[in-house]
Amino acid sequence: MSEHASSEHASRLVLVINCGSSSIKFALVDEQRSGFVLHGLADRLGSDEAWLRWQHGDGSSSRQERALGQADPRQAMEALLPVVRECAGDRLTAVGHRVVHGGEHFTAACRIDDATRQAIQDAAALAPLHNPANLMGIEAATALFPQLPHIAVFDTAFHQSMPAYAYRYAIPEALYAEQRVRRYGFHGTSHRYVTDEAARMTGLSPADSGWLSAHLGNGCSTCAVQAGASRDTSMGFTPLEGLVMGTRSGDVDPNLHGFLGRTLGWSLEKIDTVLNRESGLLGLSGLSNDMRELEQARSQGHDGATLAIEVFCYRLAKSLASLCCALTRLDGVIFTGGIGENSPLIRATTIAHLSMLGLALDDEANQRCVRGVAGAIEKTSTPIHVLVVPTDEERQIAMESLACLDADSPTERGT
Ligand code: AMP
Repeated sequence: MSEHASSEHASRLVLVINCGSSSIKFALVDEQRSGFVLHGLADRLGSDEAWLRWQHGDGSSSRQERALGQADPRQAMEALLPVVRECAGDRLTAVGHRVVHGGEHFTAACRIDDATRQAIQDAAALAPLHNPANLMGIEAATALFPQLPHIAVFDTAFHQSMPAYAYRYAIPEALYAEQRVRRYGFHGTSHRYVTDEAARMTGLSPADSGWLSAHLGNGCSTCAVQAGASRDTSMGFTPLEGLVMGTRSGDVDPNLHGFLGRTLGWSLEKIDTVLNRESGLLGLSGLSNDMRELEQARSQGHDGATLAIEVFCYRLAKSLASLCCALTRLDGVIFTGGIGENSPLIRATTIAHLSMLGLALDDEANQRCVRGVAGAIEKTSTPIHVLVVPTDEERQIAMESLACLDADSPTERGT
């Protein structure tokens, strides 16, 4: 009996892989159980000191670690294979791969075959740091698990429902037609997951509700979701557009590039580096890109940290307010990501800028929702929910992978 067929009536497991240029994040997800069966990270790949760490989700073992020498992603994948096999037994049903950019080609998760590989390769010009690394992970995993279906789940796919008036830039049409310059949006997996969860938590139908979601981690973006579809989002052609982030500037005047080139003689590479890696919370505070550190410094009177937090929250509120244009109804605002899930200060400061929309927080509920606690934090008298919803991109990738399989062969699961 094949591995796939024998798992027909047991709950299925999906191995979720997020392969970057020097790291592989992985998680084994059970379709019927929350949390992870197994999760881990291989990091510093390609250096002399690569390592692999993993932990079972049931708490049956402490964190384990292995040095991998000079391992590349393929060798790291070989090292994690026996760990996954031992844990998953014959219930491993599919491998779901996070892929950053699907261009305009992918509007949903997609089974990986030669055409899919080629389309991911074609989108690499739009995500030169990410798509090649994602492809490398796909090659390594398909070589090691040739008998399993592999599915690509794209960060951009959820936003392909945006109308043209939201995704087009006001630049010459040829740049869109020939160079594919348009707004794509990212973090789609997270925005989809938390808006579905928000509907579930409030008893509303996803098909009949409208949400503003704020994913606030090292990267930050907002998204307007109505009837389960993204209608607009703050990130654009690249993840640099939109909000203030850990080290990314978010929106700046596009003429800044010319100014810096002319006055300081900076190259485009230098400007890219400054706006992507030296700006945002780090640039504003002169201290750190880590919100915990900034909150601590603010409480001790650090001016840079105080300003960075104020700019972060104001720009976030402004983005949320502007995204109301994309909705015909607003049922709630959702906070997620490391900052959104853990910082009552950021939530309170942001919502204070949105009193015009009738939003107000319950202080006690706001303080309670940290470290994985989900819940409604709005004042009960207000008509619009404010929710803290921990994101779970790995679970969303796993569930979209299984949905893709089931759509391909609906009879396999007796549906
Ligand atoms: P992520 O990329 O989703 O892991 O989020 C990383 C960000 O979340 C960093 O800026 C962290 O400082 C921030 N973060 C995590 N925990 C807290 C916390 N308790 N309070 C404020 N920020 C936090």
